[in-house]
Amino acid sequence: MDVSVKFLGGAGTVTGSRYLLDLGDFEFLVDCGLFQGRKELRRRNWDKFPMPPKDMEAIVLTHAHMDHIGCLPKLVKDGFRGPIYCTTATAELAKILLLDSGKLQEEEAEYAKKKGYSSHENPEPLYTVEDAEAVFPLLVPKDFKKPFSIHPSVEVTYYHAGHILGAAIVKIVIKGDKQTKKLVFSGDLGRYHDPILYPPTLIPEADVVWIESTYGDRISTPIKPEEELARAINDVFDRDGLVIIPAFAVGRTQLVMYFLYQLVKKGKIPNVPIYLDSPMAINVSTLYKDFHQDHQLIGVLDDNDQHPFQHSQLHYFRKQEQSRTLNELKGKAIIISASGMATGGRVLHHLFHHLPNEKNGVVFVGYQAEGTRGRRLVDGEPEVRIYGQEVPVKAKIYSVEGLSAHADQNELMEWAEGFGEKPKLAFIVHGEESSAGVLAHKLKDELGWNTIIPNYLESFMLFEEI
Ligand SMILES: [Zn+2]
Repeated sequence: MDVSVKFLGGAGTVTGSRYLLDLGDFEFLVDCGLFQGRKELRRRNWDKFPMPPKDMEAIVLTHAHMDHIGCLPKLVKDGFRGPIYCTTATAELAKILLLDSGKLQEEEAEYAKKKGYSSHENPEPLYTVEDAEAVFPLLVPKDFKKPFSIHPSVEVTYYHAGHILGAAIVKIVIKGDKQTKKLVFSGDLGRYHDPILYPPTLIPEADVVWIESTYGDRISTPIKPEEELARAINDVFDRDGLVIIPAFAVGRTQLVMYFLYQLVKKGKIPNVPIYLDSPMAINVSTLYKDFHQDHQLIGVLDDNDQHPFQHSQLHYFRKQEQSRTLNELKGKAIIISASGMATGGRVLHHLFHHLPNEKNGVVFVGYQAEGTRGRRLVDGEPEVRIYGQEVPVKAKIYSVEGLSAHADQNELMEWAEGFGEKPKLAFIVHGEESSAGVLAHKLKDELGWNTIIPNYLESFMLFEEI
């Protein structure tokens, strides 16, 4: 048996993770992500798949972030009908996120049509909500640490990656006629000291490794994020202001809720009302109850009033009318609302109403990409455009670092050192050119690894006649 891989994404960039494995009589995909960011990257989402999707036999997912699952509805729309393996929590998260993505794609196409900025006469969405729903029956949920077979010669096992709920490292064992080979995909690796998720699992052996390199060139600051968060909140409360936290619905929101709860308990911030104003973030937070075995938060199942996700000062606002009541809110309170970069969602109307008041504060808890409203606020622009109006920025803007869901360079190296024997080959994926390059050098210099930074659409023969 010959085994080869083709990089359909996640190569030289952090998005569009898709690795096509070819075993001759069996072709399957590891991850099926959407390209995001620059226009030339996003255009790849429309590229024809290298083979008819109906001929591909299976997909194995690492986790539910859009850059790993976001292309599934397109592939299913184009004919894929095979099983899509993932962890149980990933399956549930994927349903929430794909529906949202379908809605966004529809809205964007509609907007492009209205504004007439598309080069197409009739701009079509990449996929619709209905296309997203067509993915659900194909999802095959699997447990962590229990090997399962996807083909008579291929066995897959999931291990905790510590990145988001349900995120997995994937080990694939291929039994050839003469030899058995092990492939390990890191997926996205989380932090080693996350209060909610388990640390990334160390895998003792592999022939070929795919290692992510998002922060391959970065070492996180030793400052504790919860202390920075407390400092920002107390600064706003000293002025009797209101705190708005634009947050990402998956992972970051739950981490922020956890820290707020701990800070109140330790008396480091006052015990004020907290409003979680995002239906998606609420849906995701409830999943932590169903999947208590996948994280280390204890007591999520308890119906007592003493939990980071459930206490008397925490209010879940699902309805639009509830959200609107927060427009009149004044004084000490915290609103957590999506989207995290203030590009859309309910947080926009909170910013619209509360930015003009100099008492208030906006606390960003994640990276703000160029061109986003969040970035303009962090950069100190005196006005931002919301709902077609220039809104004066009188509120103070804060930025809390260190809440990232990605391992930094030291943690990536720690994971790499976990292999008892060095793998024969390692692909450095899921990173911009510079960070992938820095990590490749470090792996080579310090651990003697044989590394390759693949290019988009590049193919490699992994094993011949095994
Ligand atoms: Zn991810």
